[in-house]
Amino acid sequence: MTTQNNLSHNHILSIRGYVIVMDGWAKKWGQNKKGGTPALRPWLTKRLLEEHFGSIKASVAASIINASILGAVFSSSRSWQILAGAGLLLAVILLWRVANYRMLLKAKTDSAKIKKILISVEYNAAVLGLWWGASVIALMHGATPSQQILCAILGAGKMAAGALTYRTLKRAAYLFVGLCAAGCFLSLIELGTGAAYASAILVLCYMAVLFASIISTEAAIIESHEREEALRDSAETIHMLLADFTEQGSDWVLEMDSQTRILNPSEQMAAAMQMPIETLAGQSLLDLLDEGGERDQLADHVALGRAFRNLQVSLSAGKERYWWSISSRPALEMNGNYRGIVTDITAQRQAEEQVSYMAHFDSLTDLPNRFQFNQRLTRMVNDPAVNPGVMYLDLDQFKVINDTLGHSFGDLLLKGVAARLKKCVSAQEIVARLGGDEFAILLENRSLEEIQHIGDAIIAALTQPFRLDDHEMIVGTSIGIALSPAHGKDAETLLRNADLALYEAKSQGRNRQIVFETSMDEASQMRRALELELRGALGKGELCLHYQPLVQIDSGETLGYEALIRWEHPERGVVMPDAFIPIAEESGMIIPIGEWVMRQAIDDLMQWPKDKTVSINLSPVQMRSPSLITTLVQAIAKTGVDPQRVCLEITENVLMHDSDANMATLHKLHEIGVQIALDDFGTGYSSLNYLRSFPFDKIKIDRCFVNEIDTREDCQAIVRSVVDLARSLGMTTTAEGVERDDQVEHLRREGCSEVQGYLFSRAVPHDQLTDLRNPVISRAKRLVDMESQRKLKQQISAQVDRIQKGNKTG
Ligand code: C2E
Ligand code: CA
Ligand code: CA
Repeated sequence: MTTQNNLSHNHILSIRGYVIVMDGWAKKWGQNKKGGTPALRPWLTKRLLEEHFGSIKASVAASIINASILGAVFSSSRSWQILAGAGLLLAVILLWRVANYRMLLKAKTDSAKIKKILISVEYNAAVLGLWWGASVIALMHGATPSQQILCAILGAGKMAAGALTYRTLKRAAYLFVGLCAAGCFLSLIELGTGAAYASAILVLCYMAVLFASIISTEAAIIESHEREEALRDSAETIHMLLADFTEQGSDWVLEMDSQTRILNPSEQMAAAMQMPIETLAGQSLLDLLDEGGERDQLADHVALGRAFRNLQVSLSAGKERYWWSISSRPALEMNGNYRGIVTDITAQRQAEEQVSYMAHFDSLTDLPNRFQFNQRLTRMVNDPAVNPGVMYLDLDQFKVINDTLGHSFGDLLLKGVAARLKKCVSAQEIVARLGGDEFAILLENRSLEEIQHIGDAIIAALTQPFRLDDHEMIVGTSIGIALSPAHGKDAETLLRNADLALYEAKSQGRNRQIVFETSMDEASQMRRALELELRGALGKGELCLHYQPLVQIDSGETLGYEALIRWEHPERGVVMPDAFIPIAEESGMIIPIGEWVMRQAIDDLMQWPKDKTVSINLSPVQMRSPSLITTLVQAIAKTGVDPQRVCLEITENVLMHDSDANMATLHKLHEIGVQIALDDFGTGYSSLNYLRSFPFDKIKIDRCFVNEIDTREDCQAIVRSVVDLARSLGMTTTAEGVERDDQVEHLRREGCSEVQGYLFSRAVPHDQLTDLRNPVISRAKRLVDMESQRKLKQQISAQVDRIQKGNKTG
């Protein structure tokens, strides 16, 4: 910042004032260069006169002594009356000289008076010069040789002394020296000897030299006076400016000595440093400043006596940290002490720091942001001594929490997550927030095992419930890991591959960490291609519904069918929902697809016997769609089916946090008369409490419990308690993924009401449903088939055995 930028209107005026002063100075200077007369410059004339009179006592005394010596030497050879008259005349001339001096003392800066004094001094010099010149002529005439020597020395001495005495007043000097020289010259010529002629010529030479030295001495003196005056002018101006700054408040004057000790501290400065003004005086500025900034430069400049500009230094007073910009220079008029201006730039620095902080840190969590993360990663990748590892994290369930409980809640959760993540890594490792619910950790020279160990710790830390306000919630995390150099040699590739591994972790069921593999890259390209193709699939009629029966466990009767979507891709063949539903959810295409499923399934239902139901899967994203209710109502109204025959399957995600909006939607759906099932129970962060949060009609127990129900007691226990609680709440239970007879037996024993699984049927196209009206028969038929196949295999192997034996014997 320049000083000028800081100036108020007043300051600009002051600056102008300064320019005017400088202008005036330049004019005076210019006049001198052009040889203007001193009389036009009273301050300078006065100064020159003062300097001339500086030696008045000595010069008057010298005159008297010189005259007395002359009088004494010539008293015997000259008439005393003449000598006395001459002495009297000299006394008058010297008194006149003293009178001039006294007038000057009183003159101040009155230019007319000074001019008068100067002229009087010049006349006085002429008369005095004349007196000495005439005295030499008069005394030389008829003098003895030794008296002649005295006269010559006296004349020459007077010339030299006059040149010195009148050195500051050129005209007076010319007159005095000239008249003395004339006296000496004429008296020597009159002697008429060869030596006298030579001496006369020497006198002329002396006079020329003295005139030359008078010219240069006076010029030098004038110049030095003018410099001094200019300096004083500018010093005054600077004082004026500084006073203005000080008054203005934000800037103040700083004075210090060459040891940076503060001199004459201003009140503003004392206030800024929160110190009494007395304590501040004499303190070393350097000691008061914080380390860093440009403090050392300031110290160097002062040590070398150099001026400096806009050095930014900081100091801490109380809890605050202030920033100052200091410009200062050693001031001639202050014996080399420094004087300068301090500008408080704290606000500006804070703004700059804020901008820089915002560019590098996430304002919510205070973690480094994506920009800084990329910078650090790039630096590490480029360092041959470092092998960076990247962990890419994404919170499971965060979107649901954010959408259902609101953004301020989401923010609190993100802060909590950031704090826990930082605890899982060492201080020098970087935890960054890349945006939304995505975090990343940058590790240096860690082995894969170490990284996975950290990953385990993170998963464990984040699956601990968060207690925020009155809510308790659980988020999980999925982690993708990529390690340099195996998984990428540049920052971009490493981060992308960690992201791909993260995607894989999420699709494998969340709350897990996966290390990048090359196949994931292909999978991601496939995913991108699928996304593009999916956009056209609905319009091209490539989507269709398959149906899987739900069977009553006691009677073996098919109660209804679950609609499961399939994508009949012209090149890829049948694409299963797990491969494209997540893509549809991410891209928002799930809304039109889900509405199509709803209309199609209810259309199909219309063609089934009146006792059969249809189950439709709802994605959590659809729950937030404003058109959900309308689509359902329209589909039911159009077909005229009993809403009771429609069951909507939602997952725990929707309930995780009993958000008012989601609950309201569920209740509205219930009011329409459709049934609501809680799907995949046990896969998320199941809590039996969810069962109490809404009056579900049905609980679908996830197939992971069914799969091992025959071998694991904990699975049996879970199924038992879910069934018990469901029954007590008036809900039915459906066990999913039943593949074996023994599972059916166990489920029956635990009191489960319905089963669904490959044991009865896979999901089949709508036109094949007629064969599955009685899946129990079909299962029996299949078992018979299996039995006959087993027998056939036995027959074949027996035959093979026989043939082999025959070969050996033969
Ligand atoms: P889900 O709702 O849990 O559906 C049951 C899944 O388990 C189906 O897979 C079904 O084919 C499979 N399954 C059934 N019996 C067995 C069995 O005995 N063993 C094994 N291993 N699996 C069995 P599918 O059709 O691939 O669907 C997968 C998931 O895709 C569904 O899980 C559901 O969440 C989602 N989905 C399917 N159709 C739709 C739809 O129209 N809309 C939405 N939003 N999601 C759908
Ligand atoms: Ca389902
Ligand atoms: Ca399910």
